[in-house]
Formats: sequence, C-alpha cells, structure tokens
Amino acid sequence: PEVVTKIAAGEVIERPASVVKELLENSIDAGATRIDIDLDAGGTELIRVVDDGCGIEPDDLALAFSQHATSKLETADDLFRIGTMGFRGEALASIAGVGQITLQSRTREAASGCEVKCDGGALSDPRPWNGSSGTRLEVRHLFYNVPVRKKFLKSVATELGHVCETVTRLSLAHPHLHITLRHNNRLVYDIPASAGLTDRIALFFTGEVRDALYEIDSGEGPMRLTGYIADPKCDRGNSKLQYLFVNGRWFRDRSVAHALQESFRGLLMSGRYAIGFLFLTIPPDKVDVNVHPTKSEVRFQENSLIYSLVRSTIKHRLLKENL
Ligand code: ADP
Ligand code: MG
Repeated sequence: PEVVTKIAAGEVIERPASVVKELLENSIDAGATRIDIDLDAGGTELIRVVDDGCGIEPDDLALAFSQHATSKLETADDLFRIGTMGFRGEALASIAGVGQITLQSRTREAASGCEVKCDGGALSDPRPWNGSSGTRLEVRHLFYNVPVRKKFLKSVATELGHVCETVTRLSLAHPHLHITLRHNNRLVYDIPASAGLTDRIALFFTGEVRDALYEIDSGEGPMRLTGYIADPKCDRGNSKLQYLFVNGRWFRDRSVAHALQESFRGLLMSGRYAIGFLFLTIPPDKVDVNVHPTKSEVRFQENSLIYSLVRSTIKHRLLKENL
C-alpha cells in the first residue's frame, strides 16, 4: 500500500478494537439487526464481522475500499448533519492498508452475492459468492506489513478487553441490536436485542446497578439530556461506570464527566465515581464530531450550556430522591 494510506491508517487503526468499531459502525449504518463478531488471538490473527444489513451491490464492492468514496455524504454540507456513524469513507481503505481483507456481500434483492479480496492494497477481481443476504467482512493478520505497530500491541487478553469495551459502548447506544462476540471459538458475549437500555445495563454491569437506576430527562428542547444515573449508595468501588453519548455516538469528554461527578458532590465516598449513562441530543450543527479520526472526541459550540444542562438535570433528579 502507499505510504499515504499507511499514515492515514495510523490515525484510525491502532489496534483490533479500532477495526471492530469501524466494522460495527458500518453494519449499523447498513441497518443490521444482528451482528456476529469472531476473533482469533485478540483479533490480531482474525476479525470477522457478519451482519444482516442491506448489503453492497456487486458494482460497489471495489469502491468500498477507495478512500473518500463513501456512499453516505452527498455534499460537504452533509458533514454538519451527519445521520450515519460513518461519513469519511476512510475506514475500509485504512484497514485494507494494514490487513488482509475478504469482503463478501449480498443485497436482499439479489439472487447471489459477490466477493472481493484486498491484500496489501491490491484488489482481486470480484467473484460470485453464495452467502445469505448481508455483509461478511474478514480482516486477517492485522499490521502484518507494519511491524512497528504490531510491536505496540498488548497481550491477547488486553486487546480482547479493548474489543469488549468497544462492543459494550455500541451495545448501550443500540439496545435493539442482537450482537454476539466469539473469541477463539468461545462465546464471550451473546447480547440479545432488548427493548431498552436498562436490560443492557443489567447485562453488562449486573442487576444490582439496574435496580439502583434513576431515569433522567431534561425535557424537550433544542438540547436534551436523557439516560440514567445510579443511586450514590450503589458502590462499584473505584470503577468508572460513566458512559457518554452524543447523538447516538459514544464520546469521551472531561467537561461532561466533570458535570456528572459534580452533581454527586457530597453524596459519594471519597475516591468513588458517580454512575451515569448520559445521552445528549444536540442539533448536528452545534457539535463537531470531525475533530478526531476515531470520532471519539467532539467539540461543542456551547460548552458551558451543556455543562449546566448536565449538572442541573442530574441535581434535580437527585433532589427528587431527597439526596
Ligand atoms: P464510511 O462508513 O465512512 O462511508 P467506510 O470505509 O467505513 O466509509 O465504508 C465504505 C463504504 O462501504 C460505505 O460507505 C458503505 O457503502 C460500504 N459498506 C461498508 N461496510 C458495509 C456493510 N457492513 N454493509 C453495507 N455496506 C457497507
Ligand atoms: Mg464506516
């Protein structure tokens, strides 16, 4: 692959979990209801994601690997009203620069599907493929051609842990999805489609957390906060159950995390963290998700407004419980 591809890939694809995140986002954008993930050796040997989404037309298969050839952006304006998880058209091109890919896909209408392989940036001719409708994407030997990056990978257990965290975040944001994760042919997660977030929370963080939850909702408005906080008596030691989402996308943000923690001031034992699953809905033109290639950091136009929305909504809710 070209140096350019490798450099771009370096920004997005750090480890197996980065690949899993991009593939899951593509499956979600394709309207999948079920996603099966298979890993070997923490994802370093094999990552396979199979979905039942809309599939890809044979003519578009090769296009999926070319940089910025996304099907999801019509004009530059669209960058500001992104309704899909992906929008840069970089992920598959980047992954293809650092791994060996087999992409198989069939649309629901088509009688048969199609397969292409991409190895070291070289694309094979498409071949017929007779699988069920949806998309099946395999990435083998991640970083086989980038030894320095391969050297920076941690143990199999650590890499698997990162993948689990990625799956957890996406599962919380999309409770209606059925997701399975297998590692070395052993089932790690079987997450059934559920009606709402609380079942998901119980699944990942025990029923004890679920039973301590208070629903929050700042009410209709241009900016809205919904989700759950847990009673401060629910003690998870010093683990940090703080999950933040904006417009359905997980993100990390010190300021919002601080607002959550501040609302619990005086209610927690020292060194403990507030538990919160916070979902912000913000007009797309007031939040920039294009700050960082992995889209895990965002920039808000009205930072202080968001800070006080989070703080006042949570404080109000705690007061209602006489806390
Ligand atoms: P982006 O998601 O930013 O558009 P990607 O590189 O992640 O770019 O994917 C490139 C294109 O390949 C997508 O725009 C989409 O058309 C197609 N594609 C990738 N994965 C899938 C999938 N699982 N189902 C359907 N189409 C897919
Ligand atoms: Mg994508």
